[in-house]
Amino acid sequence: MSTPDRPFASYHLWSLVAPARGQERWHCQMRRGFIKARQHEPQVKALLGQATAPQRIGILAQKGVYEFHHHRHLLHQSDGVEQVAQLLKLSKSTEQVQQRVLQILQKYHDDPLLLDKNIVQLTPGDEGFPKPILVEQEDYCFRLYAAMDCVFIESDRTLHILDFKTGKSAFDQRQALVYLLAARYLYPGRKAVASFYNLELCKKSDLISINNGELESLKFELANIAHKHQHDLQKYQEKTSNFSKIFPPNPGNHCRFCPFQSICDFSHQPTQSYPMPSLRTNV
Ligand code: SF4
Repeated sequence: MSTPDRPFASYHLWSLVAPARGQERWHCQMRRGFIKARQHEPQVKALLGQATAPQRIGILAQKGVYEFHHHRHLLHQSDGVEQVAQLLKLSKSTEQVQQRVLQILQKYHDDPLLLDKNIVQLTPGDEGFPKPILVEQEDYCFRLYAAMDCVFIESDRTLHILDFKTGKSAFDQRQALVYLLAARYLYPGRKAVASFYNLELCKKSDLISINNGELESLKFELANIAHKHQHDLQKYQEKTSNFSKIFPPNPGNHCRFCPFQSICDFSHQPTQSYPMPSLRTNV
């Protein structure tokens, strides 16, 4: 395993290092260890390669929005949803994924958020890692990764960075902050705001912006995360048997939803004190 030559930060890494508000109880550092330190091991790689149904829905929904705007006439055609579904090869997905993605496409077709917007960037969502941005200050330096779903220009010339969501999870403001920092480097001198839009619930978040002071604190916080993670990777590389000390587990009922449950030595096994919901009906 090799460690990156320079520390890096991203929203994903931030969310693996520190929990979002309200999610402290089920936050597990060992997940970061599997994802960011052991990702090349065959078993881990195989588990990471299996997209869950919610992940597939998110990817296909983003691609669907991209296809609607790439073939704009489909937004005005009565069979636009079916045509985009074909472009997405939706019939190859499970019934559950097909149903939810079709609903998302129909809602977007009925009320396309980006119609008439001056779009400068809209990604299909499957293009892999974005190019890193070098954040250099006197006392720290790290690479920042920020994959933006969509950027458009408001009528007053403000850049608007939009992130599409699916499912029911709450918006995590930290993701918007990372985008706003990236925008300072990618679009220097431009005023920028960020927001989220849930394609399933048709729900917009408030607009999020950041001032210069907050931006400096954010850079500092991300630099700390990047350096802490780099340090953990180095410690792991020096002694891989220390995996659980460097990336401590936090087992609990939430292990049921962890992709590494099958290979994790600390995975919580439900016992009588934590009964799993019965599949049988009460008689
Ligand atoms: S199975 Fe549980 S303890 Fe193991 S990595 Fe996942 S959440 Fe952490």
